[in-house]
Amino acid sequence: MNYILLTPGPTPLPPSVYKVMGEQILHHRTAEFGVQFQFVLDEMRYVYRTKNDVVMLTTSGTGAMESAVVNLLSPGDKALVHQTGAFGERFTKIMKAYGLSPVVVDEVWGNAADPEKLREALKKNPGLKLVTFQHTDTSTGVVNDLKALSAVVHEVQPDALVVVDSISGLGAEELETDAWGIDVALTGSQKGLMAPPGLAFAAVSERAWKACETAALPRFYLDWRTMRRSLPKKETPYTPAVTLVAAQAEALRLIREEGIENVWKRTAELAAYTRAAVAKMGLTLFAKDPADILTAVNLPAGMDGKKLIKDILREERISIAGGQLHLEGKIVRIAHMGWIKKADVDAGLKALSSRLQPTHA
Ligand SMILES: *Cc1c(COP(=O)(O)O)cnc(C)c1O
Repeated sequence: MNYILLTPGPTPLPPSVYKVMGEQILHHRTAEFGVQFQFVLDEMRYVYRTKNDVVMLTTSGTGAMESAVVNLLSPGDKALVHQTGAFGERFTKIMKAYGLSPVVVDEVWGNAADPEKLREALKKNPGLKLVTFQHTDTSTGVVNDLKALSAVVHEVQPDALVVVDSISGLGAEELETDAWGIDVALTGSQKGLMAPPGLAFAAVSERAWKACETAALPRFYLDWRTMRRSLPKKETPYTPAVTLVAAQAEALRLIREEGIENVWKRTAELAAYTRAAVAKMGLTLFAKDPADILTAVNLPAGMDGKKLIKDILREERISIAGGQLHLEGKIVRIAHMGWIKKADVDAGLKALSSRLQPTHA
């Protein structure tokens, strides 16, 4: 019996995506692969809403985050991380691992990044090379107002680059990379993009490419410059995950067929439906500014959230995410992005509501 995946990555795969992964494998230095690779990059530009060059990485999303750090920064550079949850903290950890000391602006978990708080921090810390945000912080279920945040960065520190982790947001929640002035937009294949885990992408502006040329942190496998040099040949510098490229190509074909605005709309409708259903159960949302990609739900006081999730997985084969770090056991997170359907969400909601009664055996 199959599992129902309601997790914020990996998400379920469309049947046609499974199918292409069963086809004969291509060699990566062939014209046939080149066509597929170019298609993926072109369609990623469509989903990103950008004219910038997009590079593809054979890593999970965190590899894309690390690639932004090593390709844009030098020892001693100043960077600001606007944290709204566990994934903002990850940017801070990566920078510290490379010997940097980022300025951290912290929001209470569940709140979105406050543009006024950002403005104050930008005024107090001149000379920043870059500022990072999450598009959607999957740990808390918030969506950040990237349009407003990016505008504040460009206004107060025009030389600073805007770097966005849209690993869970892209392909589910509205993102306008170029119109919003986002210099680097990072994503991964296994969430809104409806492909298996293992590929990541970065859309990089000309300003960011300039910074990339002179950045002095050590880098080799994640060096965007070698990736960009291979683009005219429709190749990657090293062996790409060719099977995943085929899968991603098919998933992107489906997104184009539906239209990205329709994908956003469908995701927003399923999110509204989920939030209403949760309220009907008498539960409250964790996020003050809830995203459309997933719904984070506060569990009743005294309820063992870790056990709840284990029970639902064992008894119903439904995979629901719990809380991360200090939220472990206190919230559950029901994803509704990508190929997750209303029937899947209904199964998850039913599993949750039937276990809210203390008498449940
Ligand atoms: C999933 C996710 C990541 C990275 O996760 P990987 O497990 O490395 O793919 C980073 N940021 C956000 C917001 C995410 O949701």
